[in-house]
Amino acid sequence: MLYVIGHKKPDTDSIAAAVAYSYLLNKLGVEAKACRIDDVNPETEFVFNKFGVGIPEKVFNSPEKRFVLVDHNEFYQSIDDLKEEQVVQIIDHHKLNVSFLEPKFVRTEPLGSTCSIVFKMFKENNVEVPKEIAFLLLSAILSDTVIFTSPTTTEEDKRIASELAEMLDFGDLKAFGIEMKKAKADLSSKTARDIITMDFKEYEKNGKKYAVGQVELVDLSEINSRKEEILSEMRKLKEEKDFDLICLMVTDIINQFTDLWFVGEDWIVVKAFGKEIKDNSVHLPNVLSRKKQVVPPIEKALS
Ligand code: MG
Ligand code: MG
Ligand code: MG
Repeated sequence: MLYVIGHKKPDTDSIAAAVAYSYLLNKLGVEAKACRIDDVNPETEFVFNKFGVGIPEKVFNSPEKRFVLVDHNEFYQSIDDLKEEQVVQIIDHHKLNVSFLEPKFVRTEPLGSTCSIVFKMFKENNVEVPKEIAFLLLSAILSDTVIFTSPTTTEEDKRIASELAEMLDFGDLKAFGIEMKKAKADLSSKTARDIITMDFKEYEKNGKKYAVGQVELVDLSEINSRKEEILSEMRKLKEEKDFDLICLMVTDIINQFTDLWFVGEDWIVVKAFGKEIKDNSVHLPNVLSRKKQVVPPIEKALS
């Protein structure tokens, strides 16, 4: 049995890719099961509820288990205590930061979502995409590309999304995308810690340990009013987990910018973005993507 898992603090792409890819493996005669390694966010809950699909169960690691990693490849972001020999396959759209002693099946493509790659694999294997899977794939593409506005979006993602939309007789993609993002953006019931860690990725470069969280919002007024509280929680988390830098991308998906809030070694942020720091924050116009626009300049600053 293969356990198909997305990353920690999973997003819709991670969970949808796990469900869709395990379905494809089953169709190809491989015993596989989609699982999650962490709780899902409200956006994913919204998507799965909308089509009445069950959210995958949580899986815990044990040495005999074998895994397929989707939507991630860094061990830091994966199930705890993962060993090289437990990884059977990787399907991802992030930069590779892993190397193995043995050959593995690894498929990465620079597309806007892992679900776009999974869709291509359905086609390549002549497996029909059932409606509920089509809906999950489409939602994940809309989510990861921030409704086709993120610079990670490719023509291929758009083509795949319109093919899926057609299969589903789907109406207004943009309206659905915004509705989906709003489900995730309801901060009123969330603690500062929830907000920081809802979509949170950890990295290490040249001995520096850093993390980048992201909140995608349609209106920043509520989060801005809680900035002090959130920054002080970021400081606590930094001490607890011994990070050198914690960033939170506060992204306005309507006006297409990110305010990058941070605590820790500010020289890294200055070097990475060359911007004036104001109140532990830099303003980054047209920045929406952690993987393409925030992590690479930080990695460059640290190298
Ligand atoms: Mg992801
Ligand atoms: Mg993704
Ligand atoms: Mg994402």
